[in-house]
Amino acid sequence: MTTATSSDAPSRSAAIQELGDTDKREIQRVFEAQRLRALALRTSTAAERIEKLQRLRQLMFERRKDIHAACFTDFAKPASEVEATEILPVVGEAHHAMRSLKRWMKPDRKRPTLLMFGTTAEVRYEPRGVCLIISPWNYPINLSFGPLVSAIAAGNTVILKPSELTPACAKLMESFVRELFDEDEITVIQGAVDTSQALLALPFDHIFFTGSPAVGKIVMQAAAAHLTSVTLELGGKSPVIVDKSANLKQTATTLVWGKFANNGQTCIAPDYVYVHADVKEDFIAACREALVKLYGHADAMQDNADYCRIVNDKHYQRVRGLLDDAVERGAKQLTAATPANDDRYIAPVMLTDVPDDARILEEEIFGPLMPILSYIDLAAPLAAINARPKPLALYIYSKDKEVVEQIISQTSAGGTCVNQAMLHFLHGQMPFGGVNNSGIGNSHGHYGFKAFSHERGVLREKFSLAFLFLPPYKGFTKWFIRFAVRWLS
Ligand code: NAD
Repeated sequence: MTTATSSDAPSRSAAIQELGDTDKREIQRVFEAQRLRALALRTSTAAERIEKLQRLRQLMFERRKDIHAACFTDFAKPASEVEATEILPVVGEAHHAMRSLKRWMKPDRKRPTLLMFGTTAEVRYEPRGVCLIISPWNYPINLSFGPLVSAIAAGNTVILKPSELTPACAKLMESFVRELFDEDEITVIQGAVDTSQALLALPFDHIFFTGSPAVGKIVMQAAAAHLTSVTLELGGKSPVIVDKSANLKQTATTLVWGKFANNGQTCIAPDYVYVHADVKEDFIAACREALVKLYGHADAMQDNADYCRIVNDKHYQRVRGLLDDAVERGAKQLTAATPANDDRYIAPVMLTDVPDDARILEEEIFGPLMPILSYIDLAAPLAAINARPKPLALYIYSKDKEVVEQIISQTSAGGTCVNQAMLHFLHGQMPFGGVNNSGIGNSHGHYGFKAFSHERGVLREKFSLAFLFLPPYKGFTKWFIRFAVRWLS
C-alpha cells in the first residue's frame, strides 16, 4: 500500500495537466501496471474487497471537514448539503455493498432448460478488469467515489478522472486515493479534455462515464475502437407532471428542494413543470411559500449559507442567458433573479408563459430556473414528453392511481418518483440510470456491482443428450433433430 500522504507526495496531477508525450507515457505506464494487478485481483475475496471499502468509508468520515472545505471552495456548497448529497450517498453505498457483497459474488445457479437436461449451469460475476471512471463536477465526490465503491466491490482496478471544474475536490480525492491504495490498483489522474481523451484512447475493460449526453457520445465512440463496454450516466431535461389531485403543499416543498438544491445543478433536478390549469395558481402560491420556508425571503437569500452557487462564470453566463432569452421572448418571471456576477449568485426563479421556442425549453437548464407550463388534457404533456429524448427522471404528483399508471405506462424515463423528487437516487435496491439519450446501463447497489462485473455463464456437462445432435446427419440423428424441433414448436 502507498504510504505517501497528500502533503508529502509529489502531485501526479501536476505531471499530467499539460499533456505532452511524457505525460501520455506516464498514463500508459499506470495503465499497464493496473493491467497486471487486475489479473491478480480476479481471485480477490469478499473479505479483501470489504476491507478496502471499509478503509475508504472510514477515511471519508474522518476527513469530512476537508470534504466540506473542498466543496465550499469549488462552489460554495453548504456543509449540510455536502453531508447529505456528497458523503451520505457514498458511505451508504459502501455500507450496502459491504453487507451484501458475499451474496452478490456467489455464482448464480441456473436450472436447465428442457434442451439442456443433463447439464448444470451457473452465472459467475467476474471483475471486468481495468476500469476508467470519468466524473462530472456537479456532485464531484459522490459521482466519483460512488462508482468507485461498486468498482472495488466487483474486484477491479480503477483509473478515476474527476472533473477539472471542481479542482479542490479533485485534489482532495487524489490525496485520499493515494493514502488508501497502491497506484497499480486505484489511481486518480487529474486533467481536462486532453487527459480524458488520452485515457479514452486506451483499451480499458470498462468505462463508467457520468456527464452530458454530448460528451457521452464522444466516450462511446472512443470505446467502440476497442469494443470496451460502457456505462453512461447522462443528463437531459427531466419533466414534472402535477395533476389536479396532487397535495400541493407536499408537491411544492419537494419540487422546490429538488429544483434549487445544489443551485439546480443536479442531473435529476426537476427541469420543467406541467401543472393542471385548475391548480396552477395554487401551485405557484405553494411554491412561493415553500421557497420562503426552505431558503428565506428573496431579499436575504444571497446571504443564506444554505443556498449554493453556480460552479463557474461560463455556467453563470449560460444560465443567465437561458433566463434572458425566455424573458425576451415573452416569459413572465415570477420571482426576482438578482444577478450577482461576482459570486455567481442566481436567486430561485419561477417562470410562466414560456414560449415553445425558448431555449430554456430545449436545453438542460442545470440552474435555479423553473419553467411552469399548464395543461388541461393530460394527452398534451404526454405527447410533448414523448416527442423529446427520453429523460433521466420523470416526476409525477397525483393522488389518482389511474393517472399515475397512465403517465408511467405511456412514457419512458430512466427513473420515476411519485409524489417525491430525486429520492430514487438514494434507494440502494433500485437501478439508477438513464435510457438512450439520458444514459446506458445502471449504477447503485447490486446494479452497480453488476455494471463493473462480467456475467460469465459456465455450463458443466453431466449426462446431456448433446451427442444425439452430432453429425453425420442421417438416420436416427436426422429424425431426432426434426423431432426436437417439432416437439418444441
Ligand atoms: P461534461 O460531459 O462536460 O464532463 C464530464 C467529464 O467529461 C469531465 O470529467 C470532463 O473533463 C470530461 N470531458 C468533457 N469534455 C470532454 C471531451 N470532449 N472528451 C472527453 N472527455 C471530456 O459534464 P459536466 O458539465 O461535468 O456535468 C454536467 C452533465 O452531467 C449534465 O448533463 C448532467 O445532467 C450530467 N450528469 C449526469 C448524472 C447522472 O448520474 N446521470 C449525474 C451528474 C451529472
